[in-house]
Amino acid sequence: MSGPGGLVVVLSGPSGVGKGSVHAGLHGLLDGLETSVSATTRAPRPGERDGVAYHFVDDATFDRMIATDALLEWAAYAGNRYGTPRAPLEDAVARGRTVLLEIEVQGALQVRARLPEALLLFLVPPAFDELERRLRDRATESEATIQARLEVARGEMAAQDDFDHVVVNDDLDRCTAEVAALIDRARSGL
Ligand code: 5GP
Repeated sequence: MSGPGGLVVVLSGPSGVGKGSVHAGLHGLLDGLETSVSATTRAPRPGERDGVAYHFVDDATFDRMIATDALLEWAAYAGNRYGTPRAPLEDAVARGRTVLLEIEVQGALQVRARLPEALLLFLVPPAFDELERRLRDRATESEATIQARLEVARGEMAAQDDFDHVVVNDDLDRCTAEVAALIDRARSGL
């Protein structure tokens, strides 16, 4: 979607690839960037605040959001559901803002179908083993959850051809700068 100058940017890629770190770094490099706060049925991790990290909702609320078409996209992921609230995104784009969605692959492909003009970026690790190490370093999840996430990640890597650009997260600063440059180019209509 693009309003007057507005742009939707989807930052996707397998869990553990470093989407969150790249996303955090982008705010220092780009003006006018807003983060879409997703709804999720997952429980908060320590330190995650409702309305900031996510809108933490129960299953009935999530069902209602789907039924009323309040979500631009949503996906089930490792036993929980995640979705992008539509209204705040549309408002921000209408105000000419760049709205960044940090979401998994199935949802990214739904955005592609619904908003063909969105910029879709796919982050990949320099090697698959790196994902496992990053997921373990985070150490907030059980072994079963880590295994489920790795299984999903293997499938997700296959979707990269459907994205506008694939960016290798070999070095956080370099990768973040490359993503910022791609967003800048899209904003100038190149
Ligand atoms: P986590 O539980 O680690 O916060 O997120 C799990 C996965 O869900 C990550 O890949 C994350 O990017 C993705 N995710 C977060 N919000 C959304 C959303 O609104 N929609 C979709 N499709 N995926 C999301």
